[in-house]
Amino acid sequence: MSFLFTAIMTLLVSPGVWACGSACSALQKGVARKVIRLLGQPQMQVGDLEHGCLQQQIPATPLDAESSLIASKKWIHGAPDCDAPGAREPKYDMLEVNPGYFIIRQNKCITSEAPFMYLMIGESGAFLHDTGDSHSADDFPLRSLIDGILARKEKETGRSIHLTVGHGHAHGDHVQGDYFFYGRPNTTVVGHDPESVGKAFGISDWPNGVGSLDLGGRKLSVIPIPGHEASSVAFYDHATGDLLTGDSLYPGNIFLSQSAWGTFRESVSRLKDFTGKNPVRNILGSHVEMTNTPGKDYPYGSTYQPEEHPLPLYQRHLDELHQIMQGEASSVRRDDFTIPL
Ligand SMILES: [Zn+2]
Repeated sequence: MSFLFTAIMTLLVSPGVWACGSACSALQKGVARKVIRLLGQPQMQVGDLEHGCLQQQIPATPLDAESSLIASKKWIHGAPDCDAPGAREPKYDMLEVNPGYFIIRQNKCITSEAPFMYLMIGESGAFLHDTGDSHSADDFPLRSLIDGILARKEKETGRSIHLTVGHGHAHGDHVQGDYFFYGRPNTTVVGHDPESVGKAFGISDWPNGVGSLDLGGRKLSVIPIPGHEASSVAFYDHATGDLLTGDSLYPGNIFLSQSAWGTFRESVSRLKDFTGKNPVRNILGSHVEMTNTPGKDYPYGSTYQPEEHPLPLYQRHLDELHQIMQGEASSVRRDDFTIPL
């Protein structure tokens, strides 16, 4: 398949066939998307179509098995009628990427935000990224879910596991479930302001420093990225290369106030610098709001998203965001995310 792929792509990007100048035609874009889809290379995208065609933007590495699993996962996505019997079940969906890595999503009929949460487990520690948009255990039994996973792990390994509950940022749809973990033994629940976040992860020079969390044989780096919210941070998992970016980069609307543009520009630049030294496998955010039609999102508050964009983004999307942030503050709509100002 790779020989066939190379042959076709070589043909496509050769100037005679694919000389599209400053903008691709709709036909060229369509053909490019089809080729990528047919060859099963979801990491490859048509690229920054406003600035040319395929030739600049093709990462050569195919997705590994875990990334394919994440990219192909069809999540629960709400219901046409959330009052219909059964529409609020299941309360959440969960993907076990591997025995130490779980992705959880809430039901859109319970909260239209339907945030994603991540659980990463090392030899002596676990990290829960966000606690969701419910404070009722009936709506979201997150505590019992996490307790069950960690109890199994502790039994298997014979070691106790310290749980750190942290957040990509402090907006309500990501921290409501903190309440479930207050008072849990062997647990740290990180606070919601830059000072608390800095202290918890050893970031002395906020927002320029990089902090860390040691899970025992598994290290996370913590990169401050204020802009969407003052305490926004990204988490990089050195074990997998996955980068958790919260609401600061995801297949949806990166909400930013005009006055935060400069702060966010610096954050994105620092994040890009970090990824220059630490290769990124997947960029994983906390929502999906785009459809799988390029540039088209679901209306805010949607409780039914049957044609969702896949969860992962990739380094090229961070590069794209970085390029956008170099310009003046303005609303932006791209294939895989938007910035509504
Ligand atoms: Zn959010």
